[in-house]
Amino acid sequence: METGGNSLPSGPDGVKRKVSYFYDPEVGNYYYGQGHPMKPHRIRMTHALLAHYGLLHQMHVLKPNPAREKDLCRFHADDYVSFLRNITPETQQDQLRQLKRFNVGEDCPVFDGLYSFCQTYAGGSVGGAVKLNHGHCDIAINWAGGLHHAKKCEASGFCYVNDIVLAILELLKVHERVLYVDIDIHHGDGVEEAFYTTDRVMTVSFHKFGDYFPGTGDIRDVGFGKGKYYSLNVPLDDGIDDESYQSLFKPIMGKVMEFFKPGAVVLQCGADSLSGDRLGCFNLSIKGHAECVKFMRSFNVPLLLLGGGGYTIRNVARCWCYETGVALGVELEDKMPQHEYYEYFGPDYTLHVAPSNMENKNSRHLLEEIRSKLLDYLSKLQHAPSVQFQERPPDTEMPEVDEDHDAVEERAETDFDMDIDDECKPLPGRVKSEFLEAEAKHSVLISFSFQSFLILSATLSNGFMLPYLHIRNFTLILKLP
Ligand SMILES: [Zn+2]
Repeated sequence: METGGNSLPSGPDGVKRKVSYFYDPEVGNYYYGQGHPMKPHRIRMTHALLAHYGLLHQMHVLKPNPAREKDLCRFHADDYVSFLRNITPETQQDQLRQLKRFNVGEDCPVFDGLYSFCQTYAGGSVGGAVKLNHGHCDIAINWAGGLHHAKKCEASGFCYVNDIVLAILELLKVHERVLYVDIDIHHGDGVEEAFYTTDRVMTVSFHKFGDYFPGTGDIRDVGFGKGKYYSLNVPLDDGIDDESYQSLFKPIMGKVMEFFKPGAVVLQCGADSLSGDRLGCFNLSIKGHAECVKFMRSFNVPLLLLGGGGYTIRNVARCWCYETGVALGVELEDKMPQHEYYEYFGPDYTLHVAPSNMENKNSRHLLEEIRSKLLDYLSKLQHAPSVQFQERPPDTEMPEVDEDHDAVEERAETDFDMDIDDECKPLPGRVKSEFLEAEAKHSVLISFSFQSFLILSATLSNGFMLPYLHIRNFTLILKLP
């Protein structure tokens, strides 16, 4: 396998990595509704391909332990989580105000089993983080996760709970710094927003920008306060091909790894950036998309691979199957094995599909400008900031069940998550106060850009009042002691 990312010392890239793969056989049964582009069935199709390519034997296959209410509330507001737990298609007519308040109903519909779906996909991502924290694997995979648009108290863009934020919070229990990379065609707004004011998490999102959902992710948005230059945005235009994409991805991510030195990396592999996506407008091949996985893997840093968008589902399954092979260091044959969803892949029945001949609107000049702007931001970063480490908080209990139901060993190797009073927790329970606390106690932070309208909510956590003004798709954060 090709070597990349030489800016950090890394072993020979051909060396096998130990991979933990999270999959719940129920996940393909959740259904957003007729005509909705988000289809959890694509996760089951991916799994079937993995099985028939013989990849399941080469990794540790785990059924995620459903995330509990208190796990979800480490980031999300209690009333929002409680709403998700209780809402059903039958009762939603009686809760119109709540639906509107939490942005549930249209893009993010109420469907049967919605809450279990959230628990399942969040459980896989947090479980992956726990596995990495324990050093049980080098790479953890949860293709059902990566729902990067969900906010603290609002659903958005087909996402209800933000499994990525939850997984990063878990990784922060062990690692001083965590890097988040997002190659979905949409801006990773929910994750960026959660960590906008901290230098412990760096977020880098590559996305279509300009008259496109969610509307955020301007190159000038770089983080705020302690987090300044720790949020990076790479705005791209229609039709970007493999070569143009990698001309930004590799130099930028190479520099990020060199300067930020993360203890763990989370890579959101949204497949709507592939050529021919039902909602997307990029022109990446599966190999071009997977090159990002290959590159991030080459640094030999614990890696969490997550799914995300992807709406031409046969290509999503192709892509995530191929990328599982990349994680394992196995090159898969192009000719697809016979399996239960074989008919989706006609007429060629191959793993790879040619990109289209659409115009690439990203001129060389524009790409060069973006690249130099971002490298300039990176040069302003202090080398690898360090935090004063507090006592390590207890792990999230994740006794996920092995596919072969050999759960005993799994339970024995994960720590018990002590149910202690919020007041006594070494780290406060909520992401915002967790990071804001370290800053000057009496300052008022205001950070903003523009989008549609405003929702106001407040959270009381560990004695801190945290008014949190959320303007659709963009945040205004005020801090009060
Ligand atoms: Zn997307």
